[in-house]
Amino acid sequence: MKLSKYLINTLKESPKEATIISHKLLLRASMIKQHSSGIYIWLPLGFKVLKNIEKIIRENQEQIGCHELLMPTIQSADLWKKSGRYEDYGKEMLRIQDRHKNELLYGPTNEEVITDFFNDYVNSYKNLPKYLYHIQWKFRDEIRPRFGVMRGREFLMKDAYSFDLTKEDSFLTYKIFFKSYLKTFIDLGLQPIPVKAESGAIGGDLSHEFQILANTGESEIAYDSKLTSDNLLNLSFDEINSLYSASDDLIDKNKKDVVIGRGIEVGHIFYFGTKYSSPLKANVLTQEGKNVEVHMGSYGIGVSRLVGAVIEAYHDEKGITWPFKIAPFKINIIALEELIDNEEIKKLYLSLLKKYKDIIFDDRDISIGKKIKDSELIGIPWTIIAGKNFKEFNKLELVNRSNNQSITLSVSDLEKFDYEKNFY
Ligand code: ATP
Ligand code: MG
Repeated sequence: MKLSKYLINTLKESPKEATIISHKLLLRASMIKQHSSGIYIWLPLGFKVLKNIEKIIRENQEQIGCHELLMPTIQSADLWKKSGRYEDYGKEMLRIQDRHKNELLYGPTNEEVITDFFNDYVNSYKNLPKYLYHIQWKFRDEIRPRFGVMRGREFLMKDAYSFDLTKEDSFLTYKIFFKSYLKTFIDLGLQPIPVKAESGAIGGDLSHEFQILANTGESEIAYDSKLTSDNLLNLSFDEINSLYSASDDLIDKNKKDVVIGRGIEVGHIFYFGTKYSSPLKANVLTQEGKNVEVHMGSYGIGVSRLVGAVIEAYHDEKGITWPFKIAPFKINIIALEELIDNEEIKKLYLSLLKKYKDIIFDDRDISIGKKIKDSELIGIPWTIIAGKNFKEFNKLELVNRSNNQSITLSVSDLEKFDYEKNFY
């Protein structure tokens, strides 16, 4: 990608509207632009990040046999009246009327739609369990949208839904999702803390939030220090669940030996039994020929919120320091003006492009200093600089964004270098 052809408009100062670091950096790096309160345009750079996060989430869902579909954003109010949530949801729900005066709404979540649809397709215990998910925009008219993409009104969520024959099966499913969520957040370079939760508006018996530590987090959390151990993935659900954890109002203030911190809630899972299958009549036939309501769970991840959460965990005074897999571009080639058309550098660019795809060549008509600053702000893991050393000795600088260290290499060394393995 030639940067001169791209839409990029970095800012030196952060706009006044931003108070937390992730919001400031997203605006300064021209990754998002506010359209109206809590509603954002995802500019090309930010959109690539969002897609990269989605990809890691998708891979993990597929690994547990959860399959992707796509449900609409606009839903019929009828289903919500049947489940009883139409009134309960209150002012957070955006209600719409079409030209025929049908009542519609912009989905804040999808339990009703999926339960209703499931009923038409699955009728036998033989077809259970079923795990389905989608990645779709949600709208919640939050009372205080803030912190950029962290608490938007329109936001992207991955929401999965599980259907099982019995409560016991549904608990097993819950544990599978629980483990998969830990792995997903670890794959995203984050340290998740699973926190026991109340199921709130969705209702149910079992629920956990996944929190990422950050001083700017909206939730207060209290947890056993063992929950931050490196080998969380090796512990069983029951071992993890036996450790103390709580957030906000659920925190036991008399509890000793717990760590108190602030967290960003990036995921939330629920087991809620037959709460929706009962009113929406999602039944299956058992082996004995009995008609029973299916047991369900739902599993959400805040995809757009994660863009902010990852920045809260990965930044320094110069800008963002994305993990390799999430970075919008992996390598940035910067050359002195007189070297921009150099054949050897063009060849290097093309060979890296073939191997890593997301490569940029900064051919903009601005100073080399400004190009380096932009690369640091945007958080490109590797910057290759062709400067005076190239003219004299045929050597280039390779700068690692995570520690700002640079090494001097030849073009052929740079072609062979493993950029992914040598970064986090
Ligand atoms: P919160 O307590 O932060 O409002 P929630 O409990 O309402 O979250 P869920 O309904 O469980 O959230 O939604 C699943 C996930 O979607 C959350 O864990 C969070 O990461 C994300 N999310 C929820 N509300 C928003 C929002 N307004 N903006 C961005 N992401 C959100
Ligand atoms: Mg909420």
